[in-house]
Amino acid sequence: MKTSLSKSALLALIALALVSSVFERVNAPARAQGPAYDLVITNARIVDGSGNPWFRGDVAIRAGRIVRIGRVARDAAAKTIDAHGQILAPGFIDVHTHVESIYSLPSAENFVRMGVTSLVTGNCGSSATDVGQFLGRISEKPLAVNLATLIGHGSVRREVMGADDRAPSADEQKKMEALVEQAMKDGAVGLSTGLIYVPGTYAKTDEIVALARIAGRHGGLYATHMRNEGDKVADAIRESILIGEQAGLPVEISHFKISNKRLWGQTPMTLGLVREARARGLSVTVDQYVYTASSTSLASRLPSWLHAGGFEEAKKRLADKATRERVISDTKDALKRSGFKDYSFAVVASYGPDKSFNGKSIAEITKQVRNKSDITSQIEQMLTMYEAGGASMIYHSMGEDDVKRILQEPFTMIASDAGVRQLDDSVPHPRGYGNNARVLGQYVRNLKLISLEDAIRKMTSLPAQTFGFRDRGLIREGFAADLVVFDEKAIADQATFDKPHQYPLGISYVLVNGSVVLANNQMTEARPGVALRGSGSTETIRSTASRQW
Ligand SMILES: [Zn+2]
Repeated sequence: MKTSLSKSALLALIALALVSSVFERVNAPARAQGPAYDLVITNARIVDGSGNPWFRGDVAIRAGRIVRIGRVARDAAAKTIDAHGQILAPGFIDVHTHVESIYSLPSAENFVRMGVTSLVTGNCGSSATDVGQFLGRISEKPLAVNLATLIGHGSVRREVMGADDRAPSADEQKKMEALVEQAMKDGAVGLSTGLIYVPGTYAKTDEIVALARIAGRHGGLYATHMRNEGDKVADAIRESILIGEQAGLPVEISHFKISNKRLWGQTPMTLGLVREARARGLSVTVDQYVYTASSTSLASRLPSWLHAGGFEEAKKRLADKATRERVISDTKDALKRSGFKDYSFAVVASYGPDKSFNGKSIAEITKQVRNKSDITSQIEQMLTMYEAGGASMIYHSMGEDDVKRILQEPFTMIASDAGVRQLDDSVPHPRGYGNNARVLGQYVRNLKLISLEDAIRKMTSLPAQTFGFRDRGLIREGFAADLVVFDEKAIADQATFDKPHQYPLGISYVLVNGSVVLANNQMTEARPGVALRGSGSTETIRSTASRQW
């Protein structure tokens, strides 16, 4: 007999079946075949990531998901972690990292020990160009943390037109657009730019708008290391907002700062530009690391025209006496504009040819090598180091009051701008070891600048919402069990600029997709990380359709 159920009755039946199956899953008592839950974290003060005040409760996990929050019977789980009244929060999501080399350090220990469970890489215009292959490797080479990537404009541009200082031809623009489109289909979460770097710096606004439009069409955002973070920072913020407005996608301004001594104290103005854009209905957010120094290449201090065509071309230019003098004079002007009297604010993090330079400022090195302290000698020293392959640097160029003001803004999230760290390798920026702990220890507990709940929100639900990780960043039934347990009275960063290779204190447990990756302050061998693909990904569309939750 042919059934004649009406459409609405059919829908009601389906709904009933779904509700009862969810009910059964969530409230299932200990069955004959074993405990109802894989793991329960008991006796926790839960900060759920929303910004709401903490509450006491247990969290039960099954098959990598949070399945119950509240009171859970002690015998209902195969394993129990007693949090002893410590804070239980969603695992931190670090939206600004540079971990293209993560497959060689799959434990990502420096991140795990900061409580970070998900990373977004591909920032500042630099990413893998084959996003499908990059994210796909996780199945052969499992990671301790979850991984997402942006598609880097600089990497795309380099692939199509090298390091040329010119506008793309129509054909080249089309090729770049095709690469961005493919990357978005392969799971990129958006487009990133690095507009102080080669070759991103050679791109005009319209080139970026066209590429960002494609990222937006596939549900991605635009993350930018702006064209200027110093004397022209306001123009750079306006350009970022304009790109979002014209391309029709959200804007994330990376490592928001003022890197110019003359402009210290101007964050009310720069943050005001973001607020104004938001008031007009544009989605603009920022991220920040909580230190008064940045870290990037030595080359970024030299004029961008020097680098046109690549490193070999730049070396040829420097061999010409007149051109070298022009480089020195342009670099001197830039120093003057930045408000610093010499390069004592510029410290070497890693210099291959002479490791004894690591940890010393350009002023100190110049004194040591040349026995001179004038600016021209310091720039000459920088050029010599650049010609020998360059260096990674730390620039002590920000004001503490600005760092604090940015942190207090509701739309600011916490991100490290760090890579995966090999213990005791060079003298890198301490942010890669301490950033999240520094927020919670220094700015929440010691300075009481923001509340614990707000700080956690900036590390969890705000990044998840901004980057489209729909089932992460909150402690909610059905969400992925990415979790961190820490003692809010003990949490503290230990890494300093002199001794950066030190893990933070006070973080005892970290779980990724329900698996324990840090237990009692010890790393485990678990590698439960998954690729987090953007909503435009064909892979995501497939897997969401087949998923239970
Ligand atoms: Zn950057």
